[in-house]
Amino acid sequence: MDIYDAHMHLPVNGSTMAEKWAALFAEMKRNGINGGVVISDSELESVIGSLQECCELFADRPDIAVVGGISPFINFREQLALLESYLSKSTARGIKLYSGHEPIYLDDAVLEPVYKMAGKYGVPVLFHSGWDNPQYSAPEVIQRAVKTYPKVTFVCCHCCYPNLSECFSALAEYENLLFDISSIADDFSTASKLKPVVERAIHTMPERFLFGSDHASCDQRAHVAFCDQLVLSDRERTLLYQENAERIYLLSQAE
Ligand SMILES: [Zn+2]
Repeated sequence: MDIYDAHMHLPVNGSTMAEKWAALFAEMKRNGINGGVVISDSELESVIGSLQECCELFADRPDIAVVGGISPFINFREQLALLESYLSKSTARGIKLYSGHEPIYLDDAVLEPVYKMAGKYGVPVLFHSGWDNPQYSAPEVIQRAVKTYPKVTFVCCHCCYPNLSECFSALAEYENLLFDISSIADDFSTASKLKPVVERAIHTMPERFLFGSDHASCDQRAHVAFCDQLVLSDRERTLLYQENAERIYLLSQAE
């Protein structure tokens, strides 16, 4: 079984993109990660890499899918055009909305061109949830978005942390939504309480869960340890670590 981390960012440290790249792969190797998803910032200049920087950095990697951050507040039209050029070549394989980091509701009409583009290229739309300012992607807001765009695949990053139970029960019926468990294992004191909640949800929706860590904001190794301790069938574990990410992000190992 391969392990894909479906939610990573380039590290803040490192002065060049080449240094950040090397640090990312070193950390993945240390934790037994075979590939995954690198999410760019929506800012034009960023220590975790802009859309353009991340797409250029990983253009030739079948084992790394770049998801492009986009914001209605930051050069929206120009960045959408740039994103489309990458999506059309599969250099980007998803779109990220920073709802909550930015004051934008997931169902805001201004995001319609983003969802249309996701539908056109068949790529998932990832969105931040939980933590600070959770109102922008609260379960009822997510419900409206996934119902408005039933053909778009959504990925709920962080599962509305810390309200995972509420998140899973409110969203279970929407088959076009997946969950990435990134950041939920970062606080050791709450992680053990969340384990049975995540296990139950994976048992009922095994094809809708993605292993992710939110490296380098969160601890990748702690997230592997968290998932290794989940009581799952072999099939559920393979879906969580490998097959769901392969399917959604078109990941594969280099020959
Ligand atoms: Zn993240």
